Amino acid sequence: MSKTGTKHFDMEDISNALNLGLIVVDAYGKILLWNNWIAKHSNIKEAAALDQQLENVFTEPVSPAFLAALKNTLTYRLPVVLSTALHRTPLPLYSASGTRQQTRMYQSITITPIQSQPNEPCCLIQVTDSSTSIKREKMLRSHSEILKKEATTDSLTDICNRRFFDAHYEIAVADAKRQKHPLSVFMVDIDFFKSYNDYYGHIAGDNIIKQVAGALKSQLSRATDIVARYGGEEFVLVMPYLPQKIAEQFAEKLRSAVFNLGIPHINSSPFHRITISVGLCTGIPENDDNLLNKADAALYQAKLKGRNQYISLPLCETEEYLEQ
Ligand code: GH3
Ligand code: MG
Ligand code: MG
Repeated sequence: MSKTGTKHFDMEDISNALNLGLIVVDAYGKILLWNNWIAKHSNIKEAAALDQQLENVFTEPVSPAFLAALKNTLTYRLPVVLSTALHRTPLPLYSASGTRQQTRMYQSITITPIQSQPNEPCCLIQVTDSSTSIKREKMLRSHSEILKKEATTDSLTDICNRRFFDAHYEIAVADAKRQKHPLSVFMVDIDFFKSYNDYYGHIAGDNIIKQVAGALKSQLSRATDIVARYGGEEFVLVMPYLPQKIAEQFAEKLRSAVFNLGIPHINSSPFHRITISVGLCTGIPENDDNLLNKADAALYQAKLKGRNQYISLPLCETEEYLEQ
């Protein structure tokens, strides 16, 4: 019995009404208290548990970390909190009694030294169900991963978006400057796309942007290379370490990959199919060299020269990498 003002409470009623597990063991690990919550989630009745050794009362093993923590508390009289991150299911407890589920309940456990009457050292073990908070944490983590992906991916084409490209490009240029290796930038633009939209409609146009993105992406195989949607019907690729001749062969591969899709475009003369123009600039960047601007200038020349082709401009004509 406990007394608060004029009201009286039975400690056993309180212990059994609590929405957490309570176990008390004596200095030898013998069970002195086993509340309803523990009985319900272990499927072991109080009568079967009392006076038993804690490690023997369950039909399944108790985690060694839990037994070590209990021994420490009994020996040194210091409280222990078992980290839920390291020890998710120390005791064989399940979410609902009767219907034993395959997976154990995630638990948060505190072991506290107490004194019994008369003056016997004991331990109070408090167990709470942390399944919900762990599930919520997992859900938040996966949400944040989805958000991170969405923030860097173009929703129409599923390739990198402009925001990702801008950040990546800055790092790629800084690496190339520091390590003095060549970097290639390919600016890609779909030819006569306005008239494609006008003739076939905007939704068909969107579908072309997706197919072209897929064709460009399928040409990449190294982890260091990226393709991004630069805006509208324009794409950009960044690839380190390519000598200029190899970069030019790659630009031709991009052009032919889109050409070979064979998508009809009645108003694209003289090709009558979807084509791209590619502006390429390769070089070892120094100071304010701007590969992007040069690649864009190269793209402009490819358009002027009749489209469905690439034009390559080196960043600096005298660099050794030209001969590699
Ligand atoms: P050029 O060969 O010189 O590149 O000619 P173009 O018609 O492709 O060039 P222009 O820049 O005049 O037109 C680009 C068109 O791309 C205009 C716009 O309607 C279309 N466009 C831009 N973004 C999208 C998009 O997300 N979806 C669709 N369907 N069309 C787009
Ligand atoms: Mg354009
Ligand atoms: Mg265009």
